[in-house]
Amino acid sequence: MTKAKGKLFIKTFGCQMNVYDSERMGEALAGAGYVSTDSPENADLVILNTCHIREKAAEKVYSELGRLKKIKTAREKEGHGTTIAVAGCVAQAEGREILARAPVVDLVVGPQSYHRMGDLISRTGQERDGIIDIDFPEDDKFKHLPARPSASRAPSAFLTVQEGCDKFCTFCVVPYTRGIEYSRPVCEIIEEAERLVQAGVREITLLGQNVNAYHGEGGKSEPWSLAQLLRALAEIPELLRLRYTTSHPRDMSEDLIALHGQEEKLMPYLHLPFQAGSDRVLAAMNRKHTREEYLELVKRIRIARPDMALSTDIIVGFPGESDDEFARTMEMVRQVEFAQAYSFKFSARPGTPAAAMEDQVADEVKSARLQELQVLLSAQQAAFNASCVGRRFSVLFERPGRRTGQLVGRSPYLQAVHADGHESLIGSMIEVEILGAGPNSLEADIVNGAKSAVIAAE
Ligand code: SAM
Ligand code: SF4
Repeated sequence: MTKAKGKLFIKTFGCQMNVYDSERMGEALAGAGYVSTDSPENADLVILNTCHIREKAAEKVYSELGRLKKIKTAREKEGHGTTIAVAGCVAQAEGREILARAPVVDLVVGPQSYHRMGDLISRTGQERDGIIDIDFPEDDKFKHLPARPSASRAPSAFLTVQEGCDKFCTFCVVPYTRGIEYSRPVCEIIEEAERLVQAGVREITLLGQNVNAYHGEGGKSEPWSLAQLLRALAEIPELLRLRYTTSHPRDMSEDLIALHGQEEKLMPYLHLPFQAGSDRVLAAMNRKHTREEYLELVKRIRIARPDMALSTDIIVGFPGESDDEFARTMEMVRQVEFAQAYSFKFSARPGTPAAAMEDQVADEVKSARLQELQVLLSAQQAAFNASCVGRRFSVLFERPGRRTGQLVGRSPYLQAVHADGHESLIGSMIEVEILGAGPNSLEADIVNGAKSAVIAAE
């Protein structure tokens, strides 16, 4: 048995890929003897897994480090040591600067080297100035991480299949923080998915910065596409649902579109960022797709799967964006009608081409545009939710709700759904009727057949 090394607290900032990385770090450190705790005050090792995508996200890390400094000092007075590690994209982008700005940090680890975390931590006591590992190692980190544990897990899980990006959108730090595009081999992904399913997982969301650019080694022949990978995963019998995110419009291949009309396990929800509605802005962003191409693509997707719920990312106030250009973004949103969306003010990121562009848009203008856009997006989301009232569909229940006797799950379209039911239904797909809709969730009733399963279980 591994000797207990101490308590571990991980705080995750940013995207789902960071959520996945934190899980894998936690699992690797559990194998090395760390037990997780839910408060930094009790932790011998604190890891901040960070995000650098916008300035606000990066700055949050430094305010968190200020808080941790106080905790470390208080624990020292009680005779306990605390190791503080900064992992993820801020670690990659700022490296040594973190140690200079926050000397409380013992270790800085980039997103491609966290499989070495255990060894690095054991060296922290010996090196006075802090340790930095922000290499892009030749070798795939996934090969060095322990297999996913078999202990029982929640019904829905993330699985990273692709990392990094070569597209170099002019506003984005990802190609610099996560490195070049890399796809994990098919056999590694299938093995991980099978282990997750054995641990009780019923829905897997495949993750990648550009997940639909997936082209992993599949054995003898050509690299496999994302559609091929999804088809193979759909053959795992107890795996009931598949999703993938985030997709780039340029990589939405015909076989992937067609699969949405063919594979029942593939959910009718697609996150497809368009970023801006003006062709001039799209070109300046280096998106390599036009407004018309995006709209055409949406049409083809809706032919393959007429009930597809679309989600997107939009940036307002990209350098030089005029009122008319912003109006094109609003128009685009009206044309597509999104079920959900994420919208952001352009944030100048050091080292990216857009940060050095002239004509930066004033913050008040960005705020006003964002507000106008978000009013429209919220109305579309509410309308989509309202359109579900009276419909029946299956929900995968994931956890108990706040109220006793209540369960929370997800609809095929990724909406949160609340319904009364027995806890034994968690992990099952149950048919429900939608009774009501709020801005962010649905209320439902479990339909007859499934209700008797509830009664039988009681
Ligand atoms: N790969 C995806 C794509 O191409 O659409 C996006 C991944 S990125 C991690 C997530 C979102 O953050 C982007 O779609 C974009 O809307 C937003 N984002 C990235 N850089 C940004 C910046 N500098 N300012 C504001 N938003 C930004
Ligand atoms: Fe960033 Fe996505 Fe563009 Fe890649 S494709 S640079 S991840 S926004």
